[in-house]
Amino acid sequence: MINKNVFAKMTEGKLSIRILGSGTSTGVPQIGCDCEVCRSVDPHDKRLRHSALVTYRGKNILIDCGPDFRQQMLACGSPHIDALLITHIHYDHIAGLEDLRGFKDLPIFARADVIAALHQRLAYCFAQHPYPGVPHFNLVEIDDINPFDCAGITVEPIPVMHYKMPILGFCIGPMAYITDCKTISLQQVERLHGVPLLIINALRIEEHLSHLSLAQTLEIIEQVKPERAVLIHMSHGIGLHEKVSKILPENVSLAYDGMVVEINKQL
Ligand SMILES: [Zn+2]
Ligand SMILES: [Zn+2]
Ligand SMILES: [Zn+2]
Repeated sequence: MINKNVFAKMTEGKLSIRILGSGTSTGVPQIGCDCEVCRSVDPHDKRLRHSALVTYRGKNILIDCGPDFRQQMLACGSPHIDALLITHIHYDHIAGLEDLRGFKDLPIFARADVIAALHQRLAYCFAQHPYPGVPHFNLVEIDDINPFDCAGITVEPIPVMHYKMPILGFCIGPMAYITDCKTISLQQVERLHGVPLLIINALRIEEHLSHLSLAQTLEIIEQVKPERAVLIHMSHGIGLHEKVSKILPENVSLAYDGMVVEINKQL
């Protein structure tokens, strides 16, 4: 378990995070659905697939790179990216990798199982004699336990379970970022206790096999007691942004696409 003093030292400084996509794998509106959320004209109810851009100590770290990545990058002025962290191999978290071809030698951090799966899915990029122009990926293996250097910033992995799949969240400075979690160990909850900013998934109101529901996420937030929590990876089953926002605890908000959260922690 991580010593709290070590964690406290790491939380110094200003961090900002831009939620590039606040939606689950289908996005919202969902194709073919005419529920009130999918029909909503409120821009807060339009949710692209998952991705976030963290700015900390002068570096831009991307978390996941989903199928809407190109459009998300163009919408925020195509900032430079120093590193990519991948939480897990599902399509809504990696489908935009091809669009990183402009970022030469970008380090991409992922677990060994994710790296193995990428070699299979994008085999043409790893061929002995690749076709000219295919993107080159600089994959760096990380594990569930050890902090690692990411563009000069120490990042700590947070192992969580996505139903039966072990996946990673990440601690960066004063923020803990978790997506696609269904269960988290008590040890990890204790370790995150009092984190200034917790970004965490909440799929919908009803329970789901592999993702936390709103009530389950609020229970974890209650245990972690962050100063502020922001909910991500929502489906249309979360309800209308405006209505749900009114019933959340004061320190909890629903993310929306393009939302920027800033935290400045001087200890
Ligand atoms: Zn997902
Ligand atoms: Zn719908
Ligand atoms: Zn997933």
